[in-house]
Amino acid sequence: MPAQSMEALVSLCKRRGFIFQSGEIYGGMQGLYDYGPLGVELKNNLKAAWWRAMVYERDDVEGLDASILTHRKTLKYSGHEATFSDPLVDCRQCKARWRADHIEDQCPACGAKDLTEPRPFNLMFKTAVGPVDDGTNFAYMRPETAQAIFTNFRHVVDSTARRPPFGIAQIGKAFRNEITPRNFIFRVREFEQMELEFFVTPGTDEDWHRYWVEARIAWWEAQGVPRDRLELLVVEADELAHYSKATTDIMYRFPHGLEELEGVANRTDFDLGSHSKDQEGLALSAAVEPNTDSNARLAIQDPDSKAWQVPYVIEPSAGVDRGVLAVLNEAYRVETLDNGSERTVLALPRHLAPLKAAVIPLKKNHDGIVETARALKARLQKLGLGRILYEHTGNIGKAYRRHDEVGTPLCITIDFETIEGDGTVTLRDRDSMTQQRIPLAEVPAALKAYYSEDGEGA
Ligand code: ATP
Repeated sequence: MPAQSMEALVSLCKRRGFIFQSGEIYGGMQGLYDYGPLGVELKNNLKAAWWRAMVYERDDVEGLDASILTHRKTLKYSGHEATFSDPLVDCRQCKARWRADHIEDQCPACGAKDLTEPRPFNLMFKTAVGPVDDGTNFAYMRPETAQAIFTNFRHVVDSTARRPPFGIAQIGKAFRNEITPRNFIFRVREFEQMELEFFVTPGTDEDWHRYWVEARIAWWEAQGVPRDRLELLVVEADELAHYSKATTDIMYRFPHGLEELEGVANRTDFDLGSHSKDQEGLALSAAVEPNTDSNARLAIQDPDSKAWQVPYVIEPSAGVDRGVLAVLNEAYRVETLDNGSERTVLALPRHLAPLKAAVIPLKKNHDGIVETARALKARLQKLGLGRILYEHTGNIGKAYRRHDEVGTPLCITIDFETIEGDGTVTLRDRDSMTQQRIPLAEVPAALKAYYSEDGEGA
């Protein structure tokens, strides 16, 4: 049973150090959030799981990490300068501004039915580059990571000798000046994307499109977002982005409603074609603006016939922040225990848990216990599983409750028995709440085994 409300999630995220409003001490900024001590771990774990599945566990994908500031011409020829906009309306009464397709014919702020005609509002952020800001030396903050994958196509192909089908994957920040950011980290102005551009031979594109929709649903399942909480939306022809022949959105039941978690688009040969010089010889599937600035042909040449072919592109594009929200929502539950009390638990899949284990000394002022606990923490940290926390606050009951709430799968308690008795520790399991005693020396092997069991690694 996922969280019943966004408020419950927002409150947990703030209280326990997952996500904070950006610039809050100065009143905050709309549509910007900062990830705290546990949020950064969760987000990194989600990105690492994506990278493992999309790059390491495949033999047909290469990685890339390109710059955020993007050449103006890149976003000119990609079509973003001309068309990457949302319809903006103003309320003539209260002056509020809205995205026309997000509201009815009435201002949500004051209720007036006095709205201007919608006009396109470009969502890209511009910034001056270099010491002279005369309005001509500017770059865009990329609105999607994809474009740098296209503009680096030649370099990747030349340096890796790849031929379709193959992909280039990238995770990184993207920026959109959303008219009305809202719903916590769902719609923000600065976010991260996990994007794969998968290049295929024209004619095989529809099969690959189906393949990637299915592969991505399976991946979300492994992150704890079950298939029956997802819905596929085939985007209507008149709502497709300018580059797309077909798009299937993977929709998730967020606390505020059914909305897009990831889009899987068939971008055809549009992007590589648009960024190529000498387009006439390329037999592109649709008209693109003639490119007088590019110095490269982003196509594959047949070694025998010497003919050039522009691959089609299938693009699964997922939002990291929307992913974090979905994963948190699915993991959140409030359980009623046998004694009638309640506990909040984040039942995150093991590989996503921000803390892999907490080492808890039963007494904070007992040298032997503290030393043993610190030494165990240091040893476990070296296993490479992720963050192990040395717990320095609260009593044991409170520590267990706190770790349930932030999803720590295992707690290890060091007590007098450990240092003066039979040398065992208490190993407590988040989900079953069972406690067992195991020898101190066996803890590293037990942890390793636990984290290799779910098949995802830590
Ligand atoms: P929407 O229709 O919700 O504005 P979109 O169709 O514009 O989204 P895409 O351009 O397909 O989104 O971007 C790919 C992914 O990037 C989305 O599926 C989403 O997960 C993420 N994303 C896009 N815009 C935002 C945003 N403003 N805040 C957070 N994530 C975003």
